[in-house]
Amino acid sequence: MNLWIARLSGARDADAARVATLASEHGELLQQTRLASRQYVLFRSEDPAARIRQRFSLLPGIEAVHPIDTPYVLSSRGATRERTRVRISAGLVVGGAEFVVMAGPCAVESRKQTLATAEGVRASGARVLRGGCFKPRTSPFSFRGLGRTGLEILQHAGRDTGLPVISEAMDARHLEHVIGAVDIVQIGMRNALNYCLLEALGQHPSRPPVLLKRGIGTSLDELLCAADYVLAGGNPNLLLCLRGTLGARNQPSRASLNIADIPALRQRTHLPIIVDPSHVAGDRKLVPAICAAAVAAGADGLLIEVHRDPERALVDGPQSLTLPQFAGLMRQLRALASAVGRTMAPSAEQPPGIKGTDHAYDDLALERPPCEASHDPHETGVLGKAEV
Ligand code: PEP
Ligand code: MN
Repeated sequence: MNLWIARLSGARDADAARVATLASEHGELLQQTRLASRQYVLFRSEDPAARIRQRFSLLPGIEAVHPIDTPYVLSSRGATRERTRVRISAGLVVGGAEFVVMAGPCAVESRKQTLATAEGVRASGARVLRGGCFKPRTSPFSFRGLGRTGLEILQHAGRDTGLPVISEAMDARHLEHVIGAVDIVQIGMRNALNYCLLEALGQHPSRPPVLLKRGIGTSLDELLCAADYVLAGGNPNLLLCLRGTLGARNQPSRASLNIADIPALRQRTHLPIIVDPSHVAGDRKLVPAICAAAVAAGADGLLIEVHRDPERALVDGPQSLTLPQFAGLMRQLRALASAVGRTMAPSAEQPPGIKGTDHAYDDLALERPPCEASHDPHETGVLGKAEV
């Protein structure tokens, strides 16, 4: 049986009901969903394609009807011609011309730490403050976040700095607390395929913006099918986040990010794509290059871990940037973003410690090519030994 999608340009329920009735006459009606200003009717049918097209195209409100040949449907490029733009707050949209950087500590640890980091990242041009409060940890005896107290701290820091905030919900029981406190609900790598949680976010009446991370061993098809669970409930406010998958043994990074996945995802979906370089890297030295690659490859934004004192961080210190390092990175990313036709928010002011020089983050600055060709006979160049 072929899977079909009918798209209606208006949001009129009567039009969608007529399409749904016709869909049941032709086969099996699967879903009727409203996403932003459009309605979608999904159905299966064995009828000839020409007959389906002819019958449906006569109905009022129909914009398109076509078969779907991918496992994912509503997240596919076939579902809508436009790229989805997710409105996070007044003046902040993800998925448009602006390249959006979200930054902050892995975990909310205290009021002071969160506010200091929030002020620092805002000054450098971050647009969203991150901070985990319900932390998924490998060991139950590690610091697992401040929970509801953390959410309250994060909310205050967001309000004080004027930044929208993002935090993770690990379980449907967290949703009532997290949704009310944050501007974006993060679904982490460990819950990438938790369909009950995704469905609950899809069906939530407030349609909260959701950032869905790809699982460590999840294919792009599975990621997009998981996205369908949110969209099918009627919540169009979805961001996808690449944070690396399992890589080779003894690799130098925590996970492995295939840069080709960024353009590949853009071809497959209309949803905005965020890259989390911190959980790919596991090491702050690798973060800037991953960020640069993400901008160049067409991502819509980044989610970066930054801590005012990474040595003392309770979670993910080794991969967290210091505030001066983040400030320097943002300056480089701004130049790169403009080179690929994206805008980025300006930095509000020079954060303390960088005073117009690049020295404070020199240890992390993107490596520049050498000015002169190397005369070292042992150097093999980027193509390896065959080039010598
Ligand atoms: C995080 O963002 O801190 C986190 C736990 O991420 P992930 O789910 O990608 O591991
Ligand atoms: Mn983390």
